[in-house]
Amino acid sequence: MGDLAPYAVDDSNSHGRGVPEPRPKVRSEFQRDRDRIVHSTAFRRLEYKTQVFVNHEGDLFRTRLTHSIEVAQIARSIARALHLNDDLTEAIALAHDLGHTPFGHAGQDALNECMRAHGGFEHNLQSLRIVDRLEERYGAFDGLNLMFETREGILKHCSPARARELGELGRRFLDNRRPSLEAQICNLADEIAYNNHDVDDGLRSGLLTLEQLEQLSLFARHAAEADAEFPQISPRRRVHETIRRMIDAQVTDLLAESARRIAAAAPHGLEDVHAAPALIAFTEAMQAENRALKGFLHQHLYQHYEVLRMTAKARRIIRDLFGAFVADPRLLPPQYQHMAATESVVRATADYIAGMTDRYSMKEHRRLFSVGEL
Ligand code: MG
Repeated sequence: MGDLAPYAVDDSNSHGRGVPEPRPKVRSEFQRDRDRIVHSTAFRRLEYKTQVFVNHEGDLFRTRLTHSIEVAQIARSIARALHLNDDLTEAIALAHDLGHTPFGHAGQDALNECMRAHGGFEHNLQSLRIVDRLEERYGAFDGLNLMFETREGILKHCSPARARELGELGRRFLDNRRPSLEAQICNLADEIAYNNHDVDDGLRSGLLTLEQLEQLSLFARHAAEADAEFPQISPRRRVHETIRRMIDAQVTDLLAESARRIAAAAPHGLEDVHAAPALIAFTEAMQAENRALKGFLHQHLYQHYEVLRMTAKARRIIRDLFGAFVADPRLLPPQYQHMAATESVVRATADYIAGMTDRYSMKEHRRLFSVGEL
C-alpha cells in the first residue's frame, strides 16, 4: 500500500463510516470492510445462489460466490497494477452481488415485476440495503457500517428518484460524477469475469459448442494461439488455455487504456477523478469484441431453451412466494413480520425472498404449496 497514487482512495481521504468507530489496530479501514463482508451472512448465502446454472445442476458451475471471488481476483490485480487501493477494490468486488435474489437474473426480473407498483426491485440497491441495514451482527449499528467509498462502489447504478432518497451517496448520479477508480475497476472486472466464465460453464454444460465459439474473433484468435503453443493437449486443457488468454488480453487492454486515460486526464486527487469522464476503460476495439461476446452468450446460452425452462420455473417460484406472503403476512417468519409492521408487507416480503438461496426458496415453495410437506 506504500505506493498508492495520489488519486487512489485511502483511509486519510475517505468520507469514513456512518457511525464513527475507533480505527482498526493492525488493518486498514478497507481491510476491515472486506473482512466484515466475508464474515456476513449474506456473503455465505452466495454459495447457494445461481450465477447462470442453478446450484443443483452441477457441482462445478460458477455460483454467485465463486463468481464474486473471480471478480475480486481480477479487480485486485488491476488495482494493484494501477497503484490504486486493492483492499477497497476487493471489498467492493466481494460485496457487489450480495443483493442478488435466488435464480440469478430470472429471480431478479420476477421480483422486480412483483414489486413494480412499489418502486421495483433492483439487486444493486438490495446489496446496499444489506450492508447498510439488514445484516444484524453488531451491537452499535445495523448493517456492517462500511466506509463511504465501499458503499459508493456497491451502488453501481441508480435511478434519479432513488438517488435523491440516498442523500450524499446518491448525489453523484444527479451531478453526473464518476465513482472512485477502484469502483470503476470492479464494474469492468465483473464483466471480464462473467463473460469468460460463462463461456467455460457453457461449454462444460454442453449448451455451447466449440464450433459456435470459433465464430467469435476473441475466442478463435486465442484458441489458435493455444493450438500453436500446445498442439497436442486435451480439449479440456485447450478450453482453459484459450479462456486464460482471453482474460489476460482483456485485462492487459484495460490496463493500457486506463493508464493512457489517467495520464491524459492527469488527476491530482480524488476530486479530479469524480469530475473526469470514466478513466477505467477498454479500448474501442476490445469493447467491440466484448459486445460481440456478450451478444453471443445472450443468444446461445442465456436464451437456450434449457436455460429458459429453468428461468420459467424460477419466475413461478418467486411469484408464488411473493403472492402467498403478501396475501397473508402471518406466513412470514417473525423477524419479517416485525419489518412488515414497521416498514411494509411488500418490503419485508422482498427482503425475505431476495435473501433466500435457490434451494431454500424451493423448499419454502414446497412448504407453502405442497400438501403433506412440512
Ligand atoms: Mg457480478
